[in-house]
Amino acid sequence: MDIRKLLGLPDLLDVRSVVCVQPHPDDNEVGAAGTLLALAERGCKIVFVTVTDGGAGVPNLTMSREEIVEIRREERLNAGKLLGVSEQLELGFPDAGQYTEQEVVQRLIPILREHRPELVMTVDPWMPYEAHPDHIKTGHAVVHAMLFSGNNATQRGAGEPYTVPQIAFYASSHPNTYIDVTSYWERKLSAILAHKSQFENAEWPLLSNFFAYQAQQLYQAGHMEARADEVRYAEAFKLLSVRQLHFFPTALYS
Ligand SMILES: [Zn+2]
Repeated sequence: MDIRKLLGLPDLLDVRSVVCVQPHPDDNEVGAAGTLLALAERGCKIVFVTVTDGGAGVPNLTMSREEIVEIRREERLNAGKLLGVSEQLELGFPDAGQYTEQEVVQRLIPILREHRPELVMTVDPWMPYEAHPDHIKTGHAVVHAMLFSGNNATQRGAGEPYTVPQIAFYASSHPNTYIDVTSYWERKLSAILAHKSQFENAEWPLLSNFFAYQAQQLYQAGHMEARADEVRYAEAFKLLSVRQLHFFPTALYS
């Protein structure tokens, strides 16, 4: 029984508005740039929310934290332009620093109520072995905000209550949705490379090969049609309705 179908929720590529919440300035590109390009092409409105300032992504030790933050902001805006993002919001929490999930939730609820997206996208905080506190806090804050943004008693005065109907986690170890991004692959790599401070370095050939290998594996995992001589790429998501985010033991297997 597919609860998303029972609820009449649209497929991932059919949503008309999405808010993508990323811990750091480059996560949305690495996790979902191909799918976001496909969505933008279909006229979907895409809003990016970046939780931290990226100040811990150190390109070289002579730079101040403020300089790094400024460079990463610039790179993030450039990457967003390549993807057709219509609005970028930044929460400015310190990258790898001291802040709480609750503080992020308080900032996210008014954003969800204002933008009223059909879908929220973010990192999967339940990925086994995920050790980065910003990723864990961001993913948890997003699902927490989703559960309570429609609640009248939560953050009264911070916008009209609204419940986002579904969520897509990228970087998930339990994906249930595969998107063919073959025709967007080069543009995805360009969007990732817009984050020059993070990716324009000696490791890029190795890393880009790894991204390609991983995406080919996901294409196979998605059981999509392909000729033997074709190289095809996919991105994978765990797509859940908001109802599956609470007291729903089978969500893992959906
Ligand atoms: Zn990150």
